[in-house]
Amino acid sequence: MIKTFADLELDSNIVEAIEEMGFSRPTQIQAEAIPQALDGKDVLASAPTGTGKTAAFVIPALQYLQDFPRRKPGPARVLILTPTRELAMQITEQAKALAKNTDFKIFTITGGVQYQEHADLLAHTQDIVVATPGRLLEYIKAERFDCRAIEWLVLDEADRMLDMGFAPAVDRLSNECRWRKQTLLFSATLEGKGVEGFTEDLLSDPATIDADPSRRERKKISQWYHRADNMPHKLALLKHILINQAERTIIFLKTRERLAELRAEMDKAEIACAWIQGEMPQDRRNNAISRFSSGEVNVLLATDVAARGLDVPDISHVINFDMPRTADIYLHRIGRTARAGKKGNAISLVEAHDQPMVERVARYIQEDIKERFIKDMRPTHKKSVFKKKKKKDPAKAKTKAKPKKKTAKKK
Ligand code: ADP
Ligand code: MG
Repeated sequence: MIKTFADLELDSNIVEAIEEMGFSRPTQIQAEAIPQALDGKDVLASAPTGTGKTAAFVIPALQYLQDFPRRKPGPARVLILTPTRELAMQITEQAKALAKNTDFKIFTITGGVQYQEHADLLAHTQDIVVATPGRLLEYIKAERFDCRAIEWLVLDEADRMLDMGFAPAVDRLSNECRWRKQTLLFSATLEGKGVEGFTEDLLSDPATIDADPSRRERKKISQWYHRADNMPHKLALLKHILINQAERTIIFLKTRERLAELRAEMDKAEIACAWIQGEMPQDRRNNAISRFSSGEVNVLLATDVAARGLDVPDISHVINFDMPRTADIYLHRIGRTARAGKKGNAISLVEAHDQPMVERVARYIQEDIKERFIKDMRPTHKKSVFKKKKKKDPAKAKTKAKPKKKTAKKK
């Protein structure tokens, strides 16, 4: 059983780079996936968001490139596909950090970049290319990119690529890379519709890894809720939390309109924040995220759509200003805190009509979400008790969110 990075028998330059990044031991997915990948196997891996999937494929890819050095300069040997430009940039950054003691050339090909910029880099030798499927296909069609030298194909966030309609593009790219030796597919979940059929064609006899550190990781998230009587009360609670407890916080809202309202309130309260919402110009979105990432502001307002694919390290608090529509979205939201072993907090602000959702979420994640109070800000309304007929067949209960697992519920 792999316990340390030393157990993986990596070249010392890689181990040193890993140490410099402050990773002291492999995460579950890394411990399971890296040996298989180094063994030459295709890999089909799932692990929750924030558990270190990037390094789980970048580390063995770097080792592979070193084990089988190229004889002459040429086109890319490792291709990493990922759904969004932002993720591509994050992967590139991490790959560059892990490869800092090597001469490997790592490039990004995504939308939103001038062709000339790409043309310059495509003229040079590349080792690893991180790309979004749509843009890469354009280049291939225009014969500006050549996949024939690709030896490793990595699909990151496969479930999201499917969600975003990239399946045909990925199929084409897989075909373009048909001379490859290995394929690795990573996903937060392998349960979504279509994932199975999708993976069958891409991988050959893969090692299937379902790293489930979720329970352990989730344990590091303290979850609680505050009841609010009305909007002014909710705002007062939020301000109190932001000023007294929270350090780096993402606040989730259900719509853009709600986000705009809260922005105005934050302005009034002179709490600096950045915000992202769906269909925002890429440069403004990037700008908002970098203000938050760099610590210029400590609060980020986001809608669920906008938060897709977002990875910002070191988030101390996730606040559900609005409860999510489903328990599944709740899990996605809170997964943004407590990443890779850090502690996190998830706080929901709950009005009377949200109470059933809190209970639904608790059933779904099979954990209790406790109520907490802030001094002098207690709610005045009575907590409504929603149909607690315990014996009732859960299938007949009028809840929409169905638990994914068929295991018996705790309650
Ligand atoms: P995922 O792709 O599974 O959502 P990431 O690869 O983005 O997760 O990693 C999440 C965070 O965890 C990143 O900030 C990364 O630097 C950090 N991380 C990755 N591996 C380790 C490790 N072994 N130890 C500590 N932190 C790690
Ligand atoms: Mg990832």
